[in-house]
Amino acid sequence: MLLQSERGSWRGGLRHRSHCSSPKIASPDSVTPVVRSISSTSSETESGSDDESFSVVTREGAKKEVACDSKVVYEFGGPVGVTALMFGFPILMSYMFICLALHQGRLPNPLELEFWQHGISAITPTARATAIYLMFNLFQYITAATLPGIKVLGLPVPSLGGKQLEYLCNGVATWYFDLVLVAVLHNTGVFPITAVVDEIGPIMSVAMIWAIVVTIATYIVGCVSGRTHRMSGSVPYDIFMGAVLNPRIGNVDLKMWSEIRIPWKILFFISLSAAVKDHEINVARRLEAGLSPEIWSLFGGLIHMNAIQTSAPLLFMLLAHCLYVNACMKGEECIPTTWDIFYEKWGYMLIFWNLAGVPFSYCYSTLYLLNRSVANDPVQHTRFFMTVLFVILLAAYYVWDTANSQKNRFRMQQRGTYVERHTFPQLPWGTIKNPTFVQTKHGNKLLTGGWWGVARKIHYTADLIMALSWGLVTGFDSYIPYFYVTFFTVVLIHRVGRDHIHCKEKYGADFDEYCRQVPYIFIPFIF
Ligand code: NDP
Repeated sequence: MLLQSERGSWRGGLRHRSHCSSPKIASPDSVTPVVRSISSTSSETESGSDDESFSVVTREGAKKEVACDSKVVYEFGGPVGVTALMFGFPILMSYMFICLALHQGRLPNPLELEFWQHGISAITPTARATAIYLMFNLFQYITAATLPGIKVLGLPVPSLGGKQLEYLCNGVATWYFDLVLVAVLHNTGVFPITAVVDEIGPIMSVAMIWAIVVTIATYIVGCVSGRTHRMSGSVPYDIFMGAVLNPRIGNVDLKMWSEIRIPWKILFFISLSAAVKDHEINVARRLEAGLSPEIWSLFGGLIHMNAIQTSAPLLFMLLAHCLYVNACMKGEECIPTTWDIFYEKWGYMLIFWNLAGVPFSYCYSTLYLLNRSVANDPVQHTRFFMTVLFVILLAAYYVWDTANSQKNRFRMQQRGTYVERHTFPQLPWGTIKNPTFVQTKHGNKLLTGGWWGVARKIHYTADLIMALSWGLVTGFDSYIPYFYVTFFTVVLIHRVGRDHIHCKEKYGADFDEYCRQVPYIFIPFIF
């Protein structure tokens, strides 16, 4: 499909300006609106089936896009709030990690000096940890820049005069390449995957330091090069929210790269590392107890292999993280048009959270389970409980995956950027045929069919259920594995509020009509 790099911008709404590299904001009044069909559909709100494949942004819609993109809004408590967050996140993560590593997941008083004196060695960076983390980043950059993939265009960028940037979406190729390479490195003994959990505390600290270095460097480069965007004038706030919108090195968009290639892959490899480590510990214990290794005979005796000795809860976490990372890779072409890529700048919020926060705090369940196994006190559940958890995880994943793809594909079809993909797995009902929608004066259509007719943020609900299952699989002895679902709930509630304001501003009365047609946010008939 499509994808010449210099395609038209503000599809249908603003004229082609793809050679404009000036960071100036386009004046919406100076552009020629509307190419086709919009005059008949944009002036009134309507519902119906989508019998035309493209929608267009109207003059009014384009004006709103520009206004929204350039308006500074203080979030997270403004400069004071973000300063607290910037100091708070690394301290909180260090605290939680020490609790997991040295206190069996209990929460001792963090104000006691002794806590830190004992704990600091568990998170002190080492040369090996530095090499592992930075080599992984470098490797991810090289594969992102070089492996084959499809090219897609992002949304028209208001500050670039509506230019659409091109993104090389080769996530699937890099993901499979990673898996093969990790298997080879592990099996040849060059880099046993268990080294990840062996060095996990120091790696986490390296990641946090690296994230802070990247944040400051990006801010300085942005200011010095004059490529800043939507600056508030408050230094801490601008460091937190970022100074530049679309930082790139070569053909790699650093913001999208850091959002997709780093956090979820590391998260998965932490779980893989923990699962392999757990297997090795259990095999060693069996041998110590004088038992011979259990052998599985597969395919009528054709294949014999050592039985997997990893506990069911750790296999659950491995599957959960595998599903998440795989979803990010297989649907990567949907990412360039998301809010984070289109609107957010690359500052501490995204950099720290993607390079350090997500991988090293969303993994608490995995680390907790492994620590319990190392302490010879593994978390165990009945077969029934584990079966229920697996069913919940897979069902929530199905809703989450298909809801995201329904909306993203619907939007891509409107813009004419839809690419039919065969990445694994393509789930039934991932694309809706003849969906219903609310046509807005802005030009965009708001989907009311498929999952999007059930609740406005059904994909958040599904994501939260998955997050909860990551906690439940660890039992109830420690709060730390539930940190993710707690934090994520706060994040998603904030996002719901922010998105509501954003959509109300952008779509006005049409958004009210959409809310009337789809009245529930998370759970139909309840909330
Ligand atoms: P959404 O996918 O809800 O995107 C919101 C935007 O989608 C809106 O601003 C609007 O954009 C558009 N939109 C909203 N409703 C409709 C509709 N009915 N029809 C068409 N377009 C619509 O939010 P996120 O980007 O926050 O989340 C994407 C996924 O990522 C979610 O599944 C979420 O759970 C997950 N996520 C996971 C995180 C994690 O740490 N695990 C963190 C954040 C998100 P427009 O202006 O174009 O109309």
